[in-house]
Amino acid sequence: MKRIAALFLALGMVLAAGCAQKDQDGPEQREVFAMDTAMVLTIYGEDAVRAANAAEEEIYRLDSLLSRTNEASKVSLLNNAGGKMVPVGVALCDLIQTAATYTELTGGAFDITIAPVVSAWGFTTDHYQVPEQEELEELLTHVGMEHVQLSGKSGASAGYENASLDPGTQIDMGGIAKGYASDRLSVIFQEHQIPQALISLGGNVLAWGSKPDGSAWRVGIQDPNAPSDPNAYVGILQLTDAFAVTSGSYERFFEQDGVTYHHIIDPSTGYPAQNGLVSVTVVADAAQGNGTMCDALSTALFVMGREEALDFWRSGACDFEMILVDENGLVTVTAGLEDCFQAAEGGGYTYEVVS
Ligand code: AMP
Ligand code: MG
Repeated sequence: MKRIAALFLALGMVLAAGCAQKDQDGPEQREVFAMDTAMVLTIYGEDAVRAANAAEEEIYRLDSLLSRTNEASKVSLLNNAGGKMVPVGVALCDLIQTAATYTELTGGAFDITIAPVVSAWGFTTDHYQVPEQEELEELLTHVGMEHVQLSGKSGASAGYENASLDPGTQIDMGGIAKGYASDRLSVIFQEHQIPQALISLGGNVLAWGSKPDGSAWRVGIQDPNAPSDPNAYVGILQLTDAFAVTSGSYERFFEQDGVTYHHIIDPSTGYPAQNGLVSVTVVADAAQGNGTMCDALSTALFVMGREEALDFWRSGACDFEMILVDENGLVTVTAGLEDCFQAAEGGGYTYEVVS
């Protein structure tokens, strides 16, 4: 038995060594499990191995900075500080400020202080339950960015370094962390002069450059009716130098007494958003900061619902395009994506391009 184990161990090492080696012209591929999700990195270029190493390291670093379930993270330090001002570092303070900007822009639909409500539903621990109305009402009194304070500007060019939360308030970066990570990876790709890469951080895609043959990357939009089938799409996006981020009610949910409850919470009610949308995909250029924007907006637009999301898109407050899928099978595609979106056949969906 021991010998067989040793043999497998040796074989495993050979295989691992094989995986680490990059074929001269082929991409460097990595699979990473972080931020509670499976991530896939495909990176081309001369410096692909070093870029992949740096990307992997950055993903783990951000996970341990932003995770609410990791007791050692800066977010946990802040959430458990009992109202005290604590040193959380410039990066987290900057991201909190960015999150606050999207709270403001989206009229409160995106709000990282939704954390205690997300916990009450059991989405942090997987011990799902429907909270009492009274409990939700009490928890909602602690939701709102006015309960977050930043301090410690130590110089004109330095940002905030310290943060505190009013007692009862907590933050949850789950709606923005993967988008922020994709922005950070784009910086790494720039530093390593990566010509092409495709990364998927659990629904957050960065299509960097084009495919090596010069054609666009093909990014599938998951069919919300078949969430466990990775090859079931409502359509395909052909993308070059773009972020594409999807929020969907099918990504995390539970059922109780025949009712389905999902993980995207409407901060105005404390309940999972219920407006007929089942997924929202936000697409923007691969400009710095847009990964974070797409992530915050996909969550916020899901909360808003179709009509309000279309009003927001038309307002021009942010520069993006989107695909909305509703529970009746209507797929709404904004005009800027018309040329790069290919509808899937036979899925029972109807498609509408809006301007
Ligand atoms: P996403 O998949 O990007 O839409 O993010 C969903 C996650 O963000 C949830 O699992 C929660 O951790 C968190 N969240 C839920 N509702 C909101 C909200 N209204 N604003 C910000 N974050 C939220
Ligand atoms: Mg999001």
